[in-house]
Amino acid sequence: MFWDKKMETLNPADLQALQLKRLKKTLRSVQSVEFYRKQFDNAGVAVSDVKTLDDIQKFPFTKKQDLRDGYPFGFFAVPMRKIVRIHTTSGTTGKPTVVGYTRRDLDTWANLIARNMTMIGVGKDDVFQNMVNYGMFTGGLGFHYGAEKIGMAVIPSATGNTRRQIEMIRDFGVTTIHCTPSYAMHLSEVAEEMGETLESLKTGIFGAEPWSDNMRHTLEDRLGLTAYDSYGMSELFGPGVAFECPERDGLHIWHDSYLVEIINPKTGERLSDGERGELVVTPLIKEAMPLIRYRVGDVTMLMEDGCLCGRYKKIARITGRSDDMLIIRGINVFPSQIEHVLLRIPEVGNQFMVYIDRINHLDEMTVEVEINRSHFSGELADLARTQKKVVKELHDTLELRTTVKLVEPGSLPRFEGKAKRVIDRRGDI
Ligand code: ADP
Ligand code: ZN
Repeated sequence: MFWDKKMETLNPADLQALQLKRLKKTLRSVQSVEFYRKQFDNAGVAVSDVKTLDDIQKFPFTKKQDLRDGYPFGFFAVPMRKIVRIHTTSGTTGKPTVVGYTRRDLDTWANLIARNMTMIGVGKDDVFQNMVNYGMFTGGLGFHYGAEKIGMAVIPSATGNTRRQIEMIRDFGVTTIHCTPSYAMHLSEVAEEMGETLESLKTGIFGAEPWSDNMRHTLEDRLGLTAYDSYGMSELFGPGVAFECPERDGLHIWHDSYLVEIINPKTGERLSDGERGELVVTPLIKEAMPLIRYRVGDVTMLMEDGCLCGRYKKIARITGRSDDMLIIRGINVFPSQIEHVLLRIPEVGNQFMVYIDRINHLDEMTVEVEINRSHFSGELADLARTQKKVVKELHDTLELRTTVKLVEPGSLPRFEGKAKRVIDRRGDI
């Protein structure tokens, strides 16, 4: 075992003692970062003010913009000679930020991934195809070393050439795959076209972007596997921050490694368990780039109920980033809600795009979705009926009137990594 298994079921008092010890160490280590020295001075706080875990609330947040301002290496807490790897974020919401790792960080990170994968029961007997970008994106090398650590046979297939990916799954008897849920959907379409049933597949690990429960059911049906949600972000090493256990009802976040708070994104106030807000994390085990109260920007909550597996408190699946939320005529909409609605309508396919425009000072949302040939007669009346149905279902869930356009199967873009399904054109006017 590469980590102490006891960590997963520590009693609350022992866990808190461990967190407090690690928190103080982390607060001391950021003293070598100018940004934090200044920030602590301005706020009039010092490490010695921390007597309990709650005292973390005296410290200011670190925001994504701070990391951008510190580009490239402003947040490194160790000299460059101790850095052995550099990654960047994907840059989904702006300029990518830089992350550095010491040798020990790489080991800690691989252990976290190994721990997640062990939790869902994969190991030495499994063949693992890692279908994500192996470059700067942390999902590639992150999963690669974690999976090797527990003795899986790792195929670093990366992205692209979907037919070849499918042949490899078939020929190498792949049991476990990792990719974005969007790519998994595309993979299932191409497998169907090729007439491949991918019998060997048992486990799918999907992450790096929000995906709905209906997406899970669709992927499980089409690929014949059990799908697990994997969550992480580059600033906190990469994937491996939180992961579903076999109960698949929320994600276990490793509290011995990450101190978790949920805040009201507007006021910064801390929320209670069961209340949804923005995730704020203070990593407790990072060496090269420790962060204090990092505002991750993703929306979730700490779940009130314990897990049947006995591990510690979970976070709910991520609905999206707080800045992913679309405000259409004053109504809040997450793209993952649109996905959830569309996937339960059999007459339409799994691919969609959302366009937001401002027409005559009013926000207008247009959803393009592919029709599903196997549920469609080709009759014009059928088309009109389906179109109306989609409008109604979207309205029932989102309480919003939308324009729906049904398009030919195969005509919308497919994504190898994170999908970009929303095009907001309001800023262009
Ligand atoms: P970027 O933030 O530029 O996309 P990363 O590649 O580090 O860079 O991506 C991390 C982000 O991806 C998270 O903050 C979150 O918004 C999203 N993400 C990762 N995993 C999941 C998941 N399982 N569910 C929902 N969102 C996820
Ligand atoms: Zn569990």
